Amino acid sequence: MKLESEGLGASSMANGSSRGIGPIILLGSPGAGKGTQAKRVSERYGIPQISTGDLLRDNVQRQTPLGLQAKDVMARGELVPDELIYDMVAHRLRQVDCDPGFVLDGFPRTPAQAGWLDEFLDNEFFDSPQRPGRCAPIVVRIDVDYNQLLHRLTGRRTCLASGHIYNVYLQPPRVPDTCDLDGSRLVTRDDDRDDVIRERLTAYQVQTKPVAEYYERQGRLVSVNGDLPVDEVTELIRLVIEGHRAARADSF
Ligand code: AMP
Repeated sequence: MKLESEGLGASSMANGSSRGIGPIILLGSPGAGKGTQAKRVSERYGIPQISTGDLLRDNVQRQTPLGLQAKDVMARGELVPDELIYDMVAHRLRQVDCDPGFVLDGFPRTPAQAGWLDEFLDNEFFDSPQRPGRCAPIVVRIDVDYNQLLHRLTGRRTCLASGHIYNVYLQPPRVPDTCDLDGSRLVTRDDDRDDVIRERLTAYQVQTKPVAEYYERQGRLVSVNGDLPVDEVTELIRLVIEGHRAARADSF
């Protein structure tokens, strides 16, 4: 794959923005850093970050019919059934802010979801004149060592007020259990408890790993080393995205 970082900074981003960047999919185990990296991709390219975990938690909090069905499944660390996810994702991807592209974090999580997404993009996304031409999603998998994942997940603490994230081993707050930024209490997310973490990692191995194989068979998967410092991972992902953009520009 061609990776061209030189000269593909802001100016090429500006050129590309008229056509948009299209869909970007971040794959990886729970704790791999998908959320952090998706946020950075979203900010760099001005496209929305779509996290199915966040969408589901919002539904649980608002006690919508979907939230009521998903709540217990999520608390056990299992995957919410595909049929419940599709309407939620379709509804979100149809919103106008997704026109130039979007970065998916936590979806697709089963091969069936990956097939559904391809069909959705073919049938809806690429048909619209506002949308960025027929371009296959850029798929990046963030690979992290298993022990490192356990550290990241068991150490994760979230601030109650605004969701700021810390890690008691890797990025501790200045005062234990207290958010540096707003002083609110830090808590362990329900599904970051030990037993649930193991269930989530098993769900990943059994149900989500085959998603990477699905994209690999199509020659669309690029892996990056997620054990590296967070800024270096961001840079690797940027290089992958810019490489795809350059290859697409060549083919127009
Ligand atoms: P996350 O924040 O991505 O780790 O997701 C938290 C939980 O939401 C997961 O453990 C699942 O129970 C559920 N979830 C998130 N995304 C999906 C998905 N694409 N398919 C099924 N369940 C999901």
